Amino acid sequence: MTKVIAVANQKGGVGKTTTAVNLSSCLAYKGKKVLLVDIDPQGNATSGLGVDKKSTKGSTYDVLINEESMERVLVDTPIENLKLCPSNIDLAGAEVELVSSISRESRLKASLKEIKENYDFVIIDCPPSLGLLTLNALTAADTILVPIQCEYYALEGLSQLMETVKLVQKHLNADLDVEGVVLTMFDARTNLSIQVVDEVKKYFKNKVYRTIIPRNVRLSEAPSYGLPIILYDAKSKGAECYLDLAEEVIEYSEEGRHNE
Ligand code: ADP
Ligand code: MG
Repeated sequence: MTKVIAVANQKGGVGKTTTAVNLSSCLAYKGKKVLLVDIDPQGNATSGLGVDKKSTKGSTYDVLINEESMERVLVDTPIENLKLCPSNIDLAGAEVELVSSISRESRLKASLKEIKENYDFVIIDCPPSLGLLTLNALTAADTILVPIQCEYYALEGLSQLMETVKLVQKHLNADLDVEGVVLTMFDARTNLSIQVVDEVKKYFKNKVYRTIIPRNVRLSEAPSYGLPIILYDAKSKGAECYLDLAEEVIEYSEEGRHNE
């Protein structure tokens, strides 16, 4: 069984791409077959894995707009077992181009259908908005994974995100589930970080992962080398934590969440 996980939060800079890239890489490192779909026009997941955005034979744009088969545009990554559907700035136009097209919210779902059985996990890195690209991801997904940055206003916007999830469940994808919430950029030295963890746990209860991702400079350096943290610095705290998160994701996909 394949599990499709959309990494989404309409806020920018909360750790979506860092989580999508490193969770995918750690799942693959642990022997799972993984596909990462970059559906953000900024293409940060693409460049973060060392793939030159200009030299790919196609991109998520071609898949969504030109009905190109996804298989044809996939590229290899520095991690064995991890394939990437790359993105580039073309995708910025897709949001507008999709508006008038038929089954505009389910393009990604349709294109994944042909190939998803080849993978244990499909991870989708969403843009920082709740537009048609994110809706495509949520329509294609089994679950949504929400990164939350341990910062002021961490909970701001989350009710809007959860409203969107409800709307998607009602109209587009009745089976969409909340995979979990991962706290990112945690700084144990600040009371603020600790308060945010408490607040988020009150709001999301057992949906919050045990693993909390610390603020770790190695995690922010890795993308400029085009490497996931596990290859850039396997001994770093960031690598250790994303491996733990991958373990939890595998555990829940096999056994379901505890105390549900
Ligand atoms: P998003 O995709 O939600 O916009 P990113 O994953 O791109 O967020 O993260 C925003 C910025 O914060 C990036 O520069 C990234 O390298 C950095 N960052 C993300 N997670 C961490 C972390 N745990 N520690 C340090 N820097 C991080
Ligand atoms: Mg991003």
